[in-house]
Amino acid sequence: MRSLTRDMDGEVAIVTGASSGIGAATARALADEGMAVALAARRADRLESLAADIDDGPGEALVVPTDVTDRDAVDDLVAETVEAFGGLDTLVNNAGVMLLQRVADADPDDWRTMVEVNLLGLMHASKAALPHLRGGGDLVQVSSVAGRTTSQTAAGYNATKWGVNGFTDALRKEETENGVRTTIVEPGAVDTELQDHIPDEEVRERLEGWVESMDALQPDDIAAAVLYAVGQPRHVSVNELMVRPTDQR
Ligand code: NDP
Repeated sequence: MRSLTRDMDGEVAIVTGASSGIGAATARALADEGMAVALAARRADRLESLAADIDDGPGEALVVPTDVTDRDAVDDLVAETVEAFGGLDTLVNNAGVMLLQRVADADPDDWRTMVEVNLLGLMHASKAALPHLRGGGDLVQVSSVAGRTTSQTAAGYNATKWGVNGFTDALRKEETENGVRTTIVEPGAVDTELQDHIPDEEVRERLEGWVESMDALQPDDIAAAVLYAVGQPRHVSVNELMVRPTDQR
């Protein structure tokens, strides 16, 4: 039986949405493998404190405060990372917002925010990273169970995550011959700050109750899924991983 993980020591990653939840856990997990990790999100103070933790371990961190809705900032994130660490092996597109509302009650500005962060931000970052990933690199897209199924109040969020899945599978077909691996990670309920931003109080409370009703995943559980995919030997491409709490229906 071959060993599950390849040696990633010295490789370079970017993680968006690294200031909390799944992104912070994933950045830490990659750094624990000895990777140099660029930490991107808007809350610079959170990134600085994560970087301090990472710098105490086997990896290295670079803080690049970034709003993924700003195309120039995303280009700069990739350029700064490549300049600081000499290349790029893995991009984890994780930044996301989930502003759940029924369509009839929805604020279209919230739809716009979700499209700009969850979908367009991810598309721009993917394109900016591609030239560096060709020849053997990983593009990891944090989608959702909501990228495969739908639910009431999630129509806008579903639209962005289904978009992520469609974009990524088409991109996979374009880039296989260039050695780029794509992985779509689809978490179920994870205990993070994501639901705190839901604008509709009734929807937020219902979702909080639903998450509390089960033994929800922790951010480290999804970080482990990312590590599983990236850690495969280069001829193995894990294209899709759906990970739910055992007791999520
Ligand atoms: P968090 O709210 O903890 O993390 C979201 C991250 O996205 C934060 O770091 C936030 O940083 C960042 N972010 C939001 N807007 C922007 C922006 N404009 N530019 C840059 N970064 C931004 O939630 P999770 O960890 O749960 O979410 C991470 C991903 O996982 C999301 O894509 C989410 O859709 C997905 N997911 C989560 C599930 C869950 O149950 N929690 C289930 C399925 C998928 P900052 O505010 O500092 O910019």
